[in-house]
Amino acid sequence: MYTAMALERRLKGDPNVQVTLVSKENYLVFQPMLPEVISGSIGILDTIAPIRRLCPKTNLTTRTVENIDLKNRTVTVSSGFRPRPYHLEYDHLVIALGNVTSFACQSGLEEHALPFKYLGDALVLRNHIIHALEEADIEDDAQFRQALLTFVVAGGGFSGVEAVAEINDFVRSAARSFRKLQVSDIRVILLHAGPLILPELPESLARFAQERLQRRGIEVRLNTRLAGATADYALLSNGERIPAKTVVATVPSAANPMVAALPCKKERGRIVVTDTLEVPDYPGVWALGDCAAVPDVTTGQSCPPTAQHAIRQGRRCGENIVAALRGEPAKPFVFKALGKMGALGHHSAVAEILGVKLSGYLAWVVWRGIYLMKLPGFDRKIRVASDWILDLLLKPDIVQLKTGAATGVGREHFEADEVIFNQGNRGDRLYIIVDGEVEMVREEPGRGQVVLARLGAGECFGEMALVNDAPRMAQARSHTAVNVLTVDRAAFGALFANLPPLRGLFQQLIEQRQRAGTAAAAPAAGPVDPAP
Ligand SMILES: Cc1cc2nc3c(=O)[nH]c(=O)nc-3n(C[C@H](O)[C@H](O)[C@H](O)COP(=O)(O)OP(=O)(O)OC[C@H]3O[C@@H](n4cnc5c(N)ncnc54)[C@H](O)[C@@H]3O)c2cc1C
Repeated sequence: MYTAMALERRLKGDPNVQVTLVSKENYLVFQPMLPEVISGSIGILDTIAPIRRLCPKTNLTTRTVENIDLKNRTVTVSSGFRPRPYHLEYDHLVIALGNVTSFACQSGLEEHALPFKYLGDALVLRNHIIHALEEADIEDDAQFRQALLTFVVAGGGFSGVEAVAEINDFVRSAARSFRKLQVSDIRVILLHAGPLILPELPESLARFAQERLQRRGIEVRLNTRLAGATADYALLSNGERIPAKTVVATVPSAANPMVAALPCKKERGRIVVTDTLEVPDYPGVWALGDCAAVPDVTTGQSCPPTAQHAIRQGRRCGENIVAALRGEPAKPFVFKALGKMGALGHHSAVAEILGVKLSGYLAWVVWRGIYLMKLPGFDRKIRVASDWILDLLLKPDIVQLKTGAATGVGREHFEADEVIFNQGNRGDRLYIIVDGEVEMVREEPGRGQVVLARLGAGECFGEMALVNDAPRMAQARSHTAVNVLTVDRAAFGALFANLPPLRGLFQQLIEQRQRAGTAAAAPAAGPVDPAP
């Protein structure tokens, strides 16, 4: 967007040049303010700026880039309401796709950890937290209630620290509006792989930040990574399990798949560019921001993935493209980082600006002032400033937005020896095993637990309670670590009612399992064969 803005400014409506910006969203997210969306101290829409208003002379294509063909100089974008192919040809191409959240290779994170990068993530997290508080207020099982009131955030960098500080302030303050919640029952935990949080900052500021968080009740676990998650707990690198229904992971990011697929040279997944932001060997192709390894002349390394660099690279790229169109030489990108700032919640922050270290209230005032100035769009500045004033006077908003049912097929992960559902539970979904093994176990009077079956990949379980609308007849327990697909009650009901072959298949399966269950329940019988 900053490249498009620079092109508009420099080209002054030149009719010979067309600028097209392809973006999944028709808005720019001002990420530094994203943590405040969690607590609701800034309105959801106030941290984002509509691209059309900021780049009125640019053709905005609100679609997803699906392919970049550097050889034939075309970009293919996804289809919209009409499923027709849509290709864009270019003379100059700027690749600024950022990076993506990736939970690959960490068991259960994809299914159970909440990412924190996009506006949608902040909104989902906020709603999830309020949901957990609502559930805790009516939960009578003390252990389960504690899991609902435990919030784990992984990653002690800026995003993690700012997110955990906002979550902590929000849950402690919101809990006062719930009749049965005690603020003292709330646990907020920050996991950090290193010996001190905020390693990007000078040690004294990082220490200040760490102590501030701890003083406000956040448990900071150092030298500890999040190794995995299930629906019920966070699994730590030291093997410990923290029962928690909210696990947030801010750490992992990976190359955007569009970038990974490009044939050009990369350095740790980022496109290698010259100091003028051009991609070597591909004339007319430029790359910048988080997805590019831009040489930093001030440090001799690649520029760090920060907004302050990306924005300036965007402007420089626009200027260089205009220079190329006019046959002038491109200028190198030269920028010395101005500093770093991190909000710690509760009117406190840490900042290092042009070598000056600030902490506490003054740093917080500077933090707010600078980011307000940087927020694109005058109307957004007014909205955020009024949000901040109102936030000082009013209680936090605890409205949970339900944006339509998230239904259908989901995924879940269980470590070995976990209860997936219990005998007597309500049948709420069907499970299909992707990998791993699950045991069906029934409590028999006088015989204790009887293993009815051991199921493996490609088999399903949980259908009986759904079809018969009856409580679960057995407990399902993971025998090994297991990944499953889940089909919720509504989706299963619709398929079962309207797809006769599927109905027949499940009826047959149920009869077969009932026979096997009866045999296993007979005193003389041992465990039955796997896969009934
Ligand atoms: C929570 C959080 C807080 C942060 N706070 C700060 C801070 O305080 N200070 C700071 O300097 N930096 C901060 N950063 C880092 C900063 O946001 C990034 O460095 C910066 O946004 C990088 O800009 P970019 O344009 O390279 O990528 P992005 O801002 O990620 O933009 C990439 C864009 O491309 C779009 N896109 C991706 N794939 C496709 C596709 N296939 N088709 C179409 N569009 C696509 C994305 O939707 C996105 O809009 C923060 C980051 C996060 C996550």
